[in-house]
Amino acid sequence: MLNIVVIGGGAAGFFGAVTAAETFPDARVLILEKNNTLLNKVRISGGGRCNVTHACYDHRQLVKHYPRGGPFLRPLLKQFDAADTVRWFESRGVPLKTEADGRMFPTTDSSETIIQCLLREARRLNVAIRTSCGVKTIRTDATGFQLTTLSGEVIRADRLLIAAGGFPQAPAYGWVPGSGSALVPPVPSLFTFNTPGNPLLALAGVSVADAAVRIQGTALEERGPLLITHWGFSGPVVLRLSAWGARELAGLNYRHDLRINWLPALNETQVREELQTFRNQHPKKRVLSQSLFGLPGRLWAALATEAGVSEAMRWAELPAKPQNRMVNLLTNSVFPVSGKSTFKEEFVTCGGIGLKTVDPETLESRLHPGLFFAGEILDVDGITGGFNFQNAWTTGFVAGKNIGKPVK
Ligand SMILES: Cc1cc2nc3c(=O)[nH]c(=O)nc-3n(C[C@H](O)[C@H](O)[C@H](O)COP(=O)(O)OP(=O)(O)OC[C@H]3O[C@@H](n4cnc5c(N)ncnc54)[C@H](O)[C@@H]3O)c2cc1C
Repeated sequence: MLNIVVIGGGAAGFFGAVTAAETFPDARVLILEKNNTLLNKVRISGGGRCNVTHACYDHRQLVKHYPRGGPFLRPLLKQFDAADTVRWFESRGVPLKTEADGRMFPTTDSSETIIQCLLREARRLNVAIRTSCGVKTIRTDATGFQLTTLSGEVIRADRLLIAAGGFPQAPAYGWVPGSGSALVPPVPSLFTFNTPGNPLLALAGVSVADAAVRIQGTALEERGPLLITHWGFSGPVVLRLSAWGARELAGLNYRHDLRINWLPALNETQVREELQTFRNQHPKKRVLSQSLFGLPGRLWAALATEAGVSEAMRWAELPAKPQNRMVNLLTNSVFPVSGKSTFKEEFVTCGGIGLKTVDPETLESRLHPGLFFAGEILDVDGITGGFNFQNAWTTGFVAGKNIGKPVK
């Protein structure tokens, strides 16, 4: 009987294991999980709701959401894409719903529903599961793999799927066969920017729906919702910048200037003219008392104060210098970034097992026949929105479909 061992009881490991058990009913499938609980990231994902996938059914569009690995995923999506994810869960009693921005969640709004579904499937298909069973070393030989666990137990596998997620540092991949030459050095992706000393930190919780944010000295620029936090800046626009710039920002040691245009829909001349028009129409109004351009009142007041406008100052009394400075701050505020945080946001690893070392049709290692990879351990990562789980489902499925086939 074929022994299939899956290392990692996360989204990709479960999906790989249940797919393998269903595809190769004569095989024995065993999941080994280091922690004493399973599917931990699924549990905390999406704020406890689990953003399972994204309602994007055009593969060309979908792969644009992966700063690393998009082209690699494209042929794999032909085997299992977001529509397949929806069908897979729905046919197992877990309907998904789509939010206005395309993110898909279980209709229960609870990640526990996804966990229970995966556990049910594993039980139904007789997938054996061992928790508190971390794999320490793997020896490859002509007949398969010999795994040694942290407790010293030896387990044999004819075929091996490594779905152990991402690790923050390269040495943590040391136990993975071939990781020396195959590893693309890991750096974090999906983080928020710390701006210590930023006068806007007092506005934590204030957000704008549309800001253009640039990282000085790079070509990185994104536009979208921006959130001010207790430590700096967050929100979709920042998370996107951190994902697309993951490696470049690591190279800058997370020290760089951030340039924010709070009014990207207008050019500088239009901003200047609108201020002047308002000034002419409402000379007696206090500058700080009424926000213009639909900006949150506290942000408007903070930017105007930064520009040198006093509490009591009326539009008619506003000298040219602070008015010019306001135009400048509204369209081009600069904040020195020093460090990053994960806050409550999801984070993923950029880097991992290099894609050139893996067969893009089957996910079998080109270095070790019979060894497969799935999920975040691969050098594939997406922006927020359900794309990282879609990678886990797609790659877990493809590895599971192929792992029991005769080794070439
Ligand atoms: C807070 C948070 C929220 C998130 N929310 C979302 C979301 O809503 N939508 C989305 O698409 N993505 C989200 N993500 C990202 C997503 O969770 C991951 O991309 C996804 O879980 C990766 O799945 P995986 O199975 O590859 O790895 P993991 O989920 O990391 O699972 C790997 C498993 O392998 C185990 N393991 C590791 N080494 C060993 C070993 N040596 N022996 C045995 N077991 C081992 C680990 O303990 C772990 O259980 C979130 C991430 C975080 C941190």
